Amino acid sequence: MNEVKVFCPASVANVSCGFDILGFCLDEIGDEMIIRKTSKPGINIIKIKGENLPYESKKNVAGVAATSLLNEFSTDFGFEIEIYKNIKAGSGIGSSAASSAGAVFGINELLGRPFSRKELIKFAIKGEELASGSIHADNVAPVLLGGFTLVRDINSLDIVSLPFPKNLFVSIIHPEIELKTSDSRSVLKQKVTLEKAIQQSANIASLVSGLYSNDYNLISRSLIDVLVEPHRSDLIPAFNELKKTSIAYGALGSGISGSGPSVFALSKGKKKAKSVTIEMAKILIPLNLKFHTYTSQINSTGIKLIDFK
Ligand code: ADP
Repeated sequence: MNEVKVFCPASVANVSCGFDILGFCLDEIGDEMIIRKTSKPGINIIKIKGENLPYESKKNVAGVAATSLLNEFSTDFGFEIEIYKNIKAGSGIGSSAASSAGAVFGINELLGRPFSRKELIKFAIKGEELASGSIHADNVAPVLLGGFTLVRDINSLDIVSLPFPKNLFVSIIHPEIELKTSDSRSVLKQKVTLEKAIQQSANIASLVSGLYSNDYNLISRSLIDVLVEPHRSDLIPAFNELKKTSIAYGALGSGISGSGPSVFALSKGKKKAKSVTIEMAKILIPLNLKFHTYTSQINSTGIKLIDFK
């Protein structure tokens, strides 16, 4: 193989009570990347469509993640990368993770898979570090492994894949406002009370239990974030109304996707998720804001090869 085309899915991180540790992978919504072997060593980004992003490999998350892989697996040839963005940068549905994971996944395929999908996470997080200034794997882990993932420890990259009910669907609404990850991180409190820490750990433990046992009711009761959402919700237009409406129309729960501004809602069944998406859209229409909506199944396989030569 000299060239691969990769589908790089979007993802939802945090999932209410799982700040920085929980995430899941989306289906159909995602970027595409073409990666090709070249005689010139190193990484060369030659085309970016759909977004205005840096071509310089040190400034693009794809270049940074790819370089980190090549630092560990050196080659006497190089790679050129084409990025076709469908996920808006800064949307909160893992735009940077899609490119970081796509670059390392594609190169790994062209090298004959020296690394497992799990091993690729340590290279992909270098791209995430460039995008947000901190190391986190709650988007790249579900993109590379598929489904729901839990980061038990970021330093040792102790990451667990979780099962989930097959009839779980997600609605996403992305209001097109600029919300920098650094701004949504700066509103967070560095200290939390013991009471809130107890509530949050009870919710994340129960959510994981609900995912294991296909208990939609328990999942619904657990989708509560007492640590982050109360501080971030003011940054998102009509957040409280979006959340209230999604639940009124049958969603199991709703919260901020990643660091926002996208909002997600989980529902049992595609039909319900579709109607929740429509009702959430109705909240944003009067605000004269550009927005995008998606309804998706949870993607159990994650990033994938769609073509090769
Ligand atoms: P998201 O949650 O949508 O991934 P982030 O804030 O984590 O948003 O990442 C977006 C930031 O990463 C933007 O500042 C963008 O310029 C930068 N960036 C660099 N390269 C890429 C890329 N290939 N794809 C997306 N964002 C990139």
